[in-house]
Amino acid sequence: MHAMMLDRAGTSLRSGDVPVPRPRPGQVLVQVRACGVCRTDLHVFDGELPDPKLPLVLGHEIVGTVAAIGDGVVRFTVGDRVGVPWLGWTCGDCTYCRSGRENLCDRARFTGYQIDGGYAEYACADQRFIFKLPEGYSDAEAAPLLCAGLIGYRSLVMAGDARRLGLYGFGAAAHIIAQVARHQGREVYAFTRRGDSEGQQFARQLGAVWAGDSDTRPPVELDAAILFAPVGSLVPTALRAVAKGGTVVCAGIHMSDIPSFPYHLLWGERSVRSVANLTRRDGDEFLALAPRVPVRTEVETFPLDAANEALSRLREGRIRGAAVLVP
Ligand SMILES: [Zn+2]
Ligand SMILES: [Zn+2]
Repeated sequence: MHAMMLDRAGTSLRSGDVPVPRPRPGQVLVQVRACGVCRTDLHVFDGELPDPKLPLVLGHEIVGTVAAIGDGVVRFTVGDRVGVPWLGWTCGDCTYCRSGRENLCDRARFTGYQIDGGYAEYACADQRFIFKLPEGYSDAEAAPLLCAGLIGYRSLVMAGDARRLGLYGFGAAAHIIAQVARHQGREVYAFTRRGDSEGQQFARQLGAVWAGDSDTRPPVELDAAILFAPVGSLVPTALRAVAKGGTVVCAGIHMSDIPSFPYHLLWGERSVRSVANLTRRDGDEFLALAPRVPVRTEVETFPLDAANEALSRLREGRIRGAAVLVP
């Protein structure tokens, strides 16, 4: 099969042909129809996440069709449309797994990081960690739901019942979560890179009541803010923008260093927290909610061989909505 391989961090993905993987017991073989390109892929590509499997097939927003099943697979049959997310395997046995927090599992393994992902024509996945997908979404449109949507949704839950919600970084996750937040009756304040008037316009189209540069103050105090941009200096910026009791949620897996800031920004029972990975429960909840909103995803598709271009466009902030590879 055709695949885009990461041989080592910092080097371009290599286009190559490798054998189609064989599903082990409990796994399904998925023929990839679409695979989203996530910010986390860039962090792996750049070597900002330690010890990836190498060589590695990136990609953890896989939409595809079950092409074969391994021994003991009961949840899916050949021909089913499925989604494969970032969380690829957990131990089921550690204190986190036993307390409904499998996203924090000490031994968790992740798709497109420790397990080969979806920048390829086929991928294998553990049947327990993949999802049926809602109807009404094409394969490419469904792909961003699987990480931008799922982890975005978990971040939104962590923002509590905030009515005035700031979203810093208006990419794949924010363009989905803005729609969910609005459906829940919240006001969305969108922050983009300085001068990104196109991005700000996009945010307003999706229902943001205000959109502006990330270094400007919103017209009102926010109840919570979610940082999708991996920029540590936005943590004190967002703390300045939230009201007393407000939460700043850092949604990304990696972020540049957070500069020191005066305690009074945190004072008033403000809090800063991170969101790590996802649980299967997040997936079930969000994939049931998305068609009810209904969430509409905007995608830019690229052929599989253009994965390097898709990654660099994402790095430069030149993707409207989400980038998706279509083999
Ligand atoms: Zn565990
Ligand atoms: Zn992701």
